[in-house]
This record gives sequence, C-alpha cells and structure tokens, in this order.
Amino acid sequence: MHEAFFEAGKGWELGPDWPGARCGAKTRQGTHCQNPAMRGKARCRNHGGKSTGAKTAEGLAKLETLHLKHGRFTKAAKAEAKRRAQIGREIRAELRDIEKEAIAAGTLGKDWREMFKP
Ligand SMILES: [Zn+2]
Repeated sequence: MHEAFFEAGKGWELGPDWPGARCGAKTRQGTHCQNPAMRGKARCRNHGGKSTGAKTAEGLAKLETLHLKHGRFTKAAKAEAKRRAQIGREIRAELRDIEKEAIAAGTLGKDWREMFKP
C-alpha cells in the first residue's frame, strides 16, 4: 500500500480491516479483486457491480445456455420425473390390491414372500 497515504494522517475507510463485502472477481494474478463490492452486489464498480444484468432476448438466451450443464433439472425434466413417479405409485397400489384379493381368495398364502427368499 501507499505509505505516504497513511503518513498524511488520512484514515482509509476501506482498508484491510474494513468488514464489508469484497469483490470476488478473479484478477490476472489469480487472486480475488478485493475492492469493496457495490451495495447489494458481489462485484466492485470495475467488475460488473454497476451491471443491471442481461436485458435483450439474445443476452438472456446466452445466460440460459451458460448455466445449463446437463438439463436433468429443467422444468420439463422435473415434470417428466413426477409423471413417472406417479405411474409407479399407481402400479404399486394396484399390485397391493391384487395381492390383497389373492390372499383373501386363498390363491396366495399370507407368507408367500417367504418362498422367494434366498
Ligand atoms: Zn473488482
């Protein structure tokens, strides 16, 4: 840091002991920028803190592709997983009903599962 700056008796409000949020942008040295981040943001004014985000359809589409890794958690994939889970629940419920009926009719013993144990 600049020695003369401290010798002049001026306080440095945003010095090393400042408790606020720091900018996390990667510098050319590979370290974090460490400048004070802008209020409510994670970046300083030099590293996109002033940005209000993508606005154009082109920019929003680019963001979408940047943040999509494999698509297993897209809305469509989640809806499909829910649909399959529901089918599974329905099939298992039907099997339970069939089992109950077969046991009640006497075609299946109460401990029929024991016969298939290894
Ligand atoms: Zn920065």
